[in-house]
Amino acid sequence: MLLTITTTHQPATDLGYLLHKNPGRLQTAELSMGKAHVFYPEATPGRCTAALLLEVDPVALVRNRKGPGGDAGTLKQYVNDRPYVASSFLSVAIAQVFGSAMGGRSKDRPELAETPIPLEATIAVLPCRGGEPLLRRIFEPVGYTVTAQGYPLDATFQDWGESPYFTVTLQATCRLSDLLRHLYVLVPVMDREKHYWITQDEVEKLLRLGADWLPSHPERELIVDRYLKHQRRLTRAALERLIEEDVDDPEVVIAARDAEEIPETDMTLREQRLGSVLAALKGGGASRVLDLGCGEGALLKPLLADQQFQEIVGMDVSMRALDIAKERLNLERLPERQARRIKLLQGSLMYRDQRLQGYDAAAVMEVIEHLDPPRLAAFERVVFHYAKPGTVVVTTPNIEYNVKFPTLAAGHLRHEDHRFEWTRLEFQAWANRVGTERKYAVRFLPVGTEDPEVGAPTQMAVFTQ
Ligand code: SAH
Repeated sequence: MLLTITTTHQPATDLGYLLHKNPGRLQTAELSMGKAHVFYPEATPGRCTAALLLEVDPVALVRNRKGPGGDAGTLKQYVNDRPYVASSFLSVAIAQVFGSAMGGRSKDRPELAETPIPLEATIAVLPCRGGEPLLRRIFEPVGYTVTAQGYPLDATFQDWGESPYFTVTLQATCRLSDLLRHLYVLVPVMDREKHYWITQDEVEKLLRLGADWLPSHPERELIVDRYLKHQRRLTRAALERLIEEDVDDPEVVIAARDAEEIPETDMTLREQRLGSVLAALKGGGASRVLDLGCGEGALLKPLLADQQFQEIVGMDVSMRALDIAKERLNLERLPERQARRIKLLQGSLMYRDQRLQGYDAAAVMEVIEHLDPPRLAAFERVVFHYAKPGTVVVTTPNIEYNVKFPTLAAGHLRHEDHRFEWTRLEFQAWANRVGTERKYAVRFLPVGTEDPEVGAPTQMAVFTQ
């Protein structure tokens, strides 16, 4: 993992004073997760570059694992991208190795520490969950010129598509402490992972390090939500404090309520979608139903309220989403007869799962666009070949309609986790092929108000055997 910071402010070698690291020497610090080396690949009066090289020790990571969280699979604990990419480890290293500089303190050059100077930071490998569009939405508002170079997942298999990894260069004229604070907060936000457990202290740290720039950042909700690892209680507390001054703005309140769902503050579309999916399930006469990728249980609730559905299974890969669903549905306090009708399962639509066999119908609402395109084939097999319910109802955004969302910048997808969004033709081509191959008839229905040119905001396919 490599971060370089370059300045052309003259004499450029003053960078050494700002960072409290002598350009003439290699310096190594032992950190709990490995070693941090600081050295200067170039140090001339005209241009000086400091490099922070992190050697993360994956075995130490597993050994030091403390507290809740963490990966269940042991293999993943050892085989992962953590040693190679910029992540919250980089933030920790910045704080430990460049702590004074991040605090804006310089013993020998105090005025320079307060002065905006031309700076350029390059992160060799930054995982950008949300891709280059999100990278720009995060760093450009704080004043950086962003250059990003993406990489395919595997150069020999072009079909696998793009990886989430980018080489990123950020250029700005700013104080070194600003640059370091931005990196400290925003690198883990792009990576969307943190190796440590989040507590109230993190809220304080975020508010402190973000004091100058976070309150006015257009993506502050997303930044806070990801930085605090989606812990709703903490996120809410941080946002409340950040937005105290403009709580009257209804858009802010709505955005704070649902940080990740970017333009879809339009509740009626969601309701229309639920209504359409329910109608399709009901119309088919289903009694035993699956909600695959049920998330926080938006569909499970009306299913439970309708006695036609005698057996309801919600399945999702995210334990966190299932916990929220359980709470929202009040599962622990339902009368026994109602509680018996519903079950929540953790599982992945990527793998054959016998628990999903033998149902009348399945809803797969707003899920396929979260799957990497090369993995859709696995999804098709799992749902249409192995689980094989009588009816399958699939909904997904219609990308053509995105131009109608005034808050969505051109070329952006509706949600930062979306791997793709399809036009009507693309969705129909996919669904028709799956129908033919798996012997299901398919019909298509628009969801939401249809526009004569770009169609409806959501598209729905109903597959029947
Ligand atoms: N159907 C819900 C949630 C949609 S969000 C609704 O419409 O409100 C997409 C959901 O798909 C998330 O909860 C996510 O955890 C889940 N998901 C993503 N990949 C998955 C996979 N491979 N297997 C099962 N669920 C998955």
